[in-house]
Amino acid sequence: MRQTTNFRKTWCWFRCPRCGHSTLRAPWRVETSTNPPQVEVRYLCQTCSGESKLQGTVLNPGVLMVLAGIPLFVFTLCGLGYLLPGGLGLLQWLVATVGGAIVAQSGVLLIESLTFRFVLVGGGDA
Ligand SMILES: [Zn+2]
Repeated sequence: MRQTTNFRKTWCWFRCPRCGHSTLRAPWRVETSTNPPQVEVRYLCQTCSGESKLQGTVLNPGVLMVLAGIPLFVFTLCGLGYLLPGGLGLLQWLVATVGGAIVAQSGVLLIESLTFRFVLVGGGDA
């Protein structure tokens, strides 16, 4: 039995294998099946309406966030905390936290654009 969630948008890099459209905010949803047990993330192209999935399952957005996003966030937070003038007040913490989040998300998107490849799922009518 297959179950799907609704499409939602988050920051993730996507390039459609059918039409070549690329975006940083592609709609995606999760499909699960119990027999055989399987979880699959499907991406929707907003240009040609083709559904795709990530080729290879080792590197996915969750793994990249743990392996690259969190270290980038911590290094940037510590670096900005060290470099910002004055003591670590509320404003310095805020700037360091926002800077860390921006650097982490940008780094993850860059790695995704360099490593992610997508394949069409379903018949595809093109
Ligand atoms: Zn497309």
